[in-house]
Amino acid sequence: MSTPLAAQHEPSSSTEDLIALFDVRRSDTPRPVEEREAAIAAPKFGTVFTDHMARISWNSTDGWTDRRIEKYGPLQLDPATAVLHYAQEIFEGMKAYRHADGSVWTFRPEANAERFARSAHRLALPALPVADFVASITALVRTDVDWVPSGEEASLYLRPFMYASEAFLGVRPSLEAEYLVIASPVGPYFSGGVKPVSIWVDREYSRAGAGGTGAAKCGGNYASSLLPQMVAQQHGCEQVCFLDSATRTHLEELGGMNVFVVRADGSVETPELTGSILEGVTRSSIIQLLTDRGHEVVERRIPLDELLDGIRDGSVTEVFACGTAAVITPIGRLAGSDFDVTIADGGAGQLTMAVRTELTDIQTGRSADRHGWLRRLA
Ligand SMILES: *Cc1c(COP(=O)(O)O)cnc(C)c1O
Repeated sequence: MSTPLAAQHEPSSSTEDLIALFDVRRSDTPRPVEEREAAIAAPKFGTVFTDHMARISWNSTDGWTDRRIEKYGPLQLDPATAVLHYAQEIFEGMKAYRHADGSVWTFRPEANAERFARSAHRLALPALPVADFVASITALVRTDVDWVPSGEEASLYLRPFMYASEAFLGVRPSLEAEYLVIASPVGPYFSGGVKPVSIWVDREYSRAGAGGTGAAKCGGNYASSLLPQMVAQQHGCEQVCFLDSATRTHLEELGGMNVFVVRADGSVETPELTGSILEGVTRSSIIQLLTDRGHEVVERRIPLDELLDGIRDGSVTEVFACGTAAVITPIGRLAGSDFDVTIADGGAGQLTMAVRTELTDIQTGRSADRHGWLRRLA
């Protein structure tokens, strides 16, 4: 890659100034090298965390204060802490990738930072400036850089989150908040290669409703998706897909992934953002990559019945889900209370897999970052 383009992707000097504001208080008990290497070699999603965490505190008088990197460890919470009672909490999910030359990068962090600020607004939490968000993940990854795996499809999963930390049972926005970033090495999402999943389309439960918190990345949305997720599993499906809460006739998304439909004529559709769907960074990146390939991508309300008819008559050839954790998951089968259909031959679709490879190649530095999506962390 030529120098000017590479230079563009380096952290700017103002980002460096913000990173320098983080007081790095190193753990006096980091995990031994052998333990760390064993964890990186065979990580189980979300079970092992790095030695440190990033943290910034907020209160309504002083704003954001005390930017620091500290030893990873339990939080001490007063039993009256607001988040435990009213779920005033938001989070993000992103990854750090080690490239072949050893450098470490992340993907479109400003998009996550901006979404985090939108989620904060909806949950009446303070907005963390985009630059602070990016500086916090950079400071943490630099401190724990040895925890970034280098294997195929391996990465360091980053989980920024914020919660209402005021100990007060009154119902109003908290006057105190804590922002943290924790990190966990993850291996390939699909251990035995990418496999299509079966999806239960739920007609009884909703994930989000009009005017609700569906477009915000908040823990409450996930809490409400767990029971329908259990129902999906009882029906032999890996995941649940939700319909719009008003009419229960249009496709929305899975508990934590957006959905796409590929038609035989090469056009692609994805549910439009109605306010109850989470705007995925993966979703918007896929729309761009498909458009680059010459596919027409239509964002619209997709009736379930129309989708089922299309699958049955062969005019719908592929369906897939997408999100940071799994990147792209092919969907082989849709089932519901009164239908059970296999998409094409039930295997992973051709375009699905081509776009998946294209996106992971960009993230891991195997192909050119033509849209300027990568930011260097270390
Ligand atoms: C996080 C999330 C997604 C995927 O977003 P990405 O930015 O692509 O990881 C999709 N739907 C929901 C409900 C989510 O919480």
